[in-house]
Amino acid sequence: MILRVLGARGPYPAKGEATSGYLLETKSGNILIDCGSGVLAKLLEYTTFDDISFIICSHLHADHTSDLGVLRYYFASRGKEIDLFIPSEPQEEYNLIRKGVYRVKNIEENMQIEMGSVKLSFFEGQHPYKSFAIRIEEDGKIFVFSGDTGYKEDFINFCTGADLLLLNSAYTDEEVEKIEESKRYHMSPRQAAAIAKKAGAKLLVLTHLKPECDEKRHLESAKEVFENTVLATQKRIIEF
Ligand SMILES: [Zn+2]
Repeated sequence: MILRVLGARGPYPAKGEATSGYLLETKSGNILIDCGSGVLAKLLEYTTFDDISFIICSHLHADHTSDLGVLRYYFASRGKEIDLFIPSEPQEEYNLIRKGVYRVKNIEENMQIEMGSVKLSFFEGQHPYKSFAIRIEEDGKIFVFSGDTGYKEDFINFCTGADLLLLNSAYTDEEVEKIEESKRYHMSPRQAAAIAKKAGAKLLVLTHLKPECDEKRHLESAKEVFENTVLATQKRIIEF
């Protein structure tokens, strides 16, 4: 599989950079994972909208979905439809997205589904909106994306053996300590690295980076726990 980072910022973009969006090339075609602000323009640097096999959005926060509203115009003007995996809540956001061209499939906890050559499974995170981590397996290779979630001990099992582990780390290590545990909706670099280490991942990619993020510090902090870590900088391409 090949992962192309289209955007890794959150909850708003940085200059010239999109919010959450990733293109995963598989034998069954390109899977678009998250479709945040500015993602579509970045996607066109690699492929066309017609070459997206299906779309998965981890949750319905706008920094992960806002370009879906625009992509609709493209498909509608061509009389086309496309499969879209999303959580079914919150209701208001769900109703806005599901109309029109999207053949919506609701993501449920512990759901497993095969789409061509890939096997998808999902894990519910800790976030104000229902948010799911996504595990994609093909030919023994494993990709896991956390979506938005705070640190959860039982998430480690879901990440086991990942060749590429893409984890959100919107918080700094200092920030996360100031928030009570039940209200931690993202991870810090050290927390993400701890998951990578315990899950036996091969490579950790940190994402959901705030535009204000001190990237050097963020990366160093994670590397102290798990050496094989990189940041999801725009245009990063990883084959695994
Ligand atoms: Zn979110």
